[in-house]
Amino acid sequence: MDSSSRHERLLRLDRTHVWHPFTQMQEWPTDEPLVIERAEGNYLIDDLGRRYLDGVSSLWCNVHGHRKRELDDAIRAQLDRVAHTTLLGLASVPSIELAAELVRLAPPGLTRVFFSDSGSTAVEVALKMAFQCWRQRGRPEKSRFVALQEAYHGDTVGSVSVGGMELFHGTFRGLLFQAERIPTPYAYRWTGPGDCGAACLDVAERVFAEKGHQLAALVVEPLVQGAAGMLTQPPGFLRRLAELCRQHEVLLICDEVATGFGRTGTLFAVEQEQVRPDFLCLAKGLSGGYLPLAATLTTESVHEAFLGDVASQRTFFHGHTFTGNPLACAAALASLRLFETEHVLERLQRTLAALAPKLARIAELPHVGEVRQRGAMVGIELVQDRRTKASYPTAERIGHRVCLAARRHGVLLRPLGAVVVLMPPLSLTMEEAAVLGDAVHAAIAEVTGP
Ligand SMILES: *Cc1c(COP(=O)(O)O)cnc(C)c1O
Repeated sequence: MDSSSRHERLLRLDRTHVWHPFTQMQEWPTDEPLVIERAEGNYLIDDLGRRYLDGVSSLWCNVHGHRKRELDDAIRAQLDRVAHTTLLGLASVPSIELAAELVRLAPPGLTRVFFSDSGSTAVEVALKMAFQCWRQRGRPEKSRFVALQEAYHGDTVGSVSVGGMELFHGTFRGLLFQAERIPTPYAYRWTGPGDCGAACLDVAERVFAEKGHQLAALVVEPLVQGAAGMLTQPPGFLRRLAELCRQHEVLLICDEVATGFGRTGTLFAVEQEQVRPDFLCLAKGLSGGYLPLAATLTTESVHEAFLGDVASQRTFFHGHTFTGNPLACAAALASLRLFETEHVLERLQRTLAALAPKLARIAELPHVGEVRQRGAMVGIELVQDRRTKASYPTAERIGHRVCLAARRHGVLLRPLGAVVVLMPPLSLTMEEAAVLGDAVHAAIAEVTGP
């Protein structure tokens, strides 16, 4: 079978059987689906042999590029030992080594690691732990959660309950528990009084003052609210929220599923605000973006609340079949080692310096409203009118069309509405940064015109 008839066959079967996530399947065939077959470094290669720069790290998770020798070798070596064993009642070598390594690298105070398999479950675990923790500390009234307005914490029912994106979450409202809300510091579109960050913190203070005694935890994406459109928080914002949590005895859950593992320039985003959370949720980049793996880190103090004899029923009754999967843990250990041996964060600064002038040029395009950035997380918000900040009608699918155009320039992206997202692997070279920037510039110019 030649490659084009094979391609047609694969597409036909895809259209017939594969239900794609976050995808309007009726429109899917017109999106000219690509069928990815292999990869090399920061490039994905489709079944027709076409190469594309992976501009969003395969949905925000790839860290060191694809087919990274050290990661491939670590997984193969583990495969020669065992692919999967359970952590329910058994321990395993890679999960032990990884837990210790995560504790060494995480902010001080986080000494206990609970493994699961996705960002959603990492958050779900933190929510349930926080809830149960207060019951077992004899404070059952502390049972509610507070979250940011435009939050995204995953797609399971608990993590959607603390999410706040109307488009994704509105449908399910009747199924969810109610959470308290703090407005998102979205400075570009702030219409309220005064300084955006300060105004949001004022509301936070009121919520904590009125409801603090009922709050189990605050859950927040530190520094950048990713899925909401790469919304960046002003300096000091996270720090102030952390102070409010301490003052009102509210546990702090930092969801670093997107920001973790170097994306914002430091290994963890919380480091930039010297914040020590009670829970740190990790997934996406944890295994270098290779395999589904997540971890919820917490403190001795939280862990202690769960101790007692079996009859006391203080056990955390939660777990997943593939919790702490050895192949994924082996990949994660190799990934963490690379951060040190390849000086990933130092090298990233040089790549970002190469990207900076390209982003500055993009910011000058007539339909670019704002370019937001923290480290390797970039959001380019497109607007119909720069002066009035008027949005494009949703039906125009402006972000989507820019991404299709970028594809013609050899770059794969996925937008968030009218926000073009760049979130390249940390292994992006300076040359590739220039390719990425030029492709995005050309794509935006072509689609949005003068
Ligand atoms: C992607 C994401 C999640 C959900 O992770 P999944 O692995 O897709 O379940 C949770 N929180 C944040 C901040 C994310 O970006």
